[in-house]
Amino acid sequence: MPASVRRAIIHQFARCKVRILLLSDIHSNVEALEGCVAAAPVCDLVVNLGDIVGYGANPNEVIERSRSMGKHFVRGNHDKAAAGLMDLKDFNPIAGMAALWTREQLSPENLEWLRGLPQGPIHIPEVPQAQFVHGSPIDEDEYVVTPRDALEPLMATKVPLTFFGHSHVQGAFSTNPSETGGLRPIYKTVGQKEVMEMQLKQGVEYLINPGSVGQPRDGDWRAAFAVFESEEYRVSFHRVPYNLKSAQDRILAANLPQRLATRLATGR
Ligand code: ZN
Repeated sequence: MPASVRRAIIHQFARCKVRILLLSDIHSNVEALEGCVAAAPVCDLVVNLGDIVGYGANPNEVIERSRSMGKHFVRGNHDKAAAGLMDLKDFNPIAGMAALWTREQLSPENLEWLRGLPQGPIHIPEVPQAQFVHGSPIDEDEYVVTPRDALEPLMATKVPLTFFGHSHVQGAFSTNPSETGGLRPIYKTVGQKEVMEMQLKQGVEYLINPGSVGQPRDGDWRAAFAVFESEEYRVSFHRVPYNLKSAQDRILAANLPQRLATRLATGR
């Protein structure tokens, strides 16, 4: 990106101070969502990076709660699957079963709303230097897990900040030569509420994943989210304990596959 364009974007951005709550991969886990909402600071905007439903037992509740918090959403592959917008042959049997179960549970209004969600990247006027996607800015269904996966999207991006989900792994990748291995928050505990701040640098491109609210896969069972503060040019990664037992019990009571309940305890 030419320096003049970057300066113009940063200048425009600096005039509107915003604090954004970033939520991704809630996966119908209403207990985890409520845990995040209770722990999050007051924010100006909420951006949801997709996979609102699938796997968990409360798709309608999670959709309604999410819609009450804001209007910025990107669709995820599980949202598409539950809405009947993609072939389930790409899903493993457990994910496919959960998608069909979800479709049967959804109210007609929520099903219609899910069908209408936009494909990323989406852009928001208040944050012109950022884009929001589910998988990668190049392909909405692509997983960005390793620094190698991040390379092409980082090189192709026209904005400094890309917020993404899909991998269920909290952290970031950047073009800073000293951060080529990626950035993962390091926490002190395994069961308490914690925050880790990451100061962003000007002139560096970032791919930032707030982690999964409702089904973390980075070895930490706590619900994950992030907050972006424009004025400080900073991202805070959060982990919060939530009512895991209740989420598991509801999955089992709904006769969803047992694995969907047990994996929540290990964050895998
Ligand atoms: Zn997901």
